[in-house]
Amino acid sequence: MKIAFFSTQKYDRDFFLKENDRFNFDLVFFEVHLKLDTLELAKGYEVICVFVNDKIDQAMLKELQRNGTKLIALRCAGFNNIDIKAAKELGIQVVRVPAYSPYAVAEHTLALILTLNRKIHKAYNRVRESNFSLDGLLGFDLYGKKAGIIGTGKIGKLVAKILSGFGCEILLYDPFPDAHLECGKYYDLKTLLNDSDIISIHCPLNDKTKHLISKESIALMKEGVMIINTSRGAIINTKDVIKGLKSGKIGYLGLDVYEEEEELFFEDRSETIVQDDVLMRLISFPNVIVTAHQAFFTQNAMRNIAVTTLKNIKDFEENKELSNLVLP
Ligand code: NAD
Repeated sequence: MKIAFFSTQKYDRDFFLKENDRFNFDLVFFEVHLKLDTLELAKGYEVICVFVNDKIDQAMLKELQRNGTKLIALRCAGFNNIDIKAAKELGIQVVRVPAYSPYAVAEHTLALILTLNRKIHKAYNRVRESNFSLDGLLGFDLYGKKAGIIGTGKIGKLVAKILSGFGCEILLYDPFPDAHLECGKYYDLKTLLNDSDIISIHCPLNDKTKHLISKESIALMKEGVMIINTSRGAIINTKDVIKGLKSGKIGYLGLDVYEEEEELFFEDRSETIVQDDVLMRLISFPNVIVTAHQAFFTQNAMRNIAVTTLKNIKDFEENKELSNLVLP
């Protein structure tokens, strides 16, 4: 079976080719995103494999169906980039990789928290220039701080456990609380926003969570709060967050995802003039760290992504039940 891969980088090709030894599919890799003007490339492929920034709406799904596509294999956990309802109506099945390494994302979340707090990014550059001064590097003890976790699924749960290991008091919010999670206590969202020193976001992006962090919710937060988002960019209203940073209300911001990341992230743009003024303003703050959607990027996660994706496709080929099917 031939599979067309979109938005691929060298590391995708390396991991998929290695794992494909066991599956023997015919893998065809495209570097471009799947979008209206690249749809032609998907023609004749029963299975296509896409990533987080391949946005597939109803019109594109209709065209894919006309072109013979029957399965879209997401090589990621989130599925907010595909119109799942339209896909189902058109008879196109969508599968994903629900968990490849929640540890990878949880640990990156901690990397952002620790770097922002102890200003490792500044210290690294300073010492390289023989500047051994500590001015401006003052941090705070995580021990005893209140950490609010929004979304206590696979990743949020791990972040809660790790932070509780640091001695933080853990405040949890999730419309579907996990009764077995013992390292923290559930509160309503308002209380979490009011009381937390650190707020870390781990819920999916959907109609309810889009711009969950906006000027209204920021107004409820503590002065100097730390906000971390490794979930999806549009959960944060970036312009409101910039206002919060300028006023000092937000003391630290760590982002692995960005509302408008689609045309920028995963590519080397260092030789171009980036036109996104909002992102450029964001990265100009000394108390902001942006990483380019790399939280998932560990060897373990990449291997698991490749194996699960190929297994999903094998199950489809063999007409088996699709255990990782995405339903509306
Ligand atoms: P999960 O499905 O295991 O958990 C999500 C949790 O969010 C669930 O417990 C759900 O009940 C909760 N939730 C739903 N609506 C909510 C709301 N309105 N408010 C608060 N909580 C809500 O997902 P996961 O594997 O823990 O992943 C979390 C998110 O992390 C994903 O949705 C994905 O967008 C993102 N992610 C990012 C990366 C990365 O590389 N940066 C990698 C993997 C996943």
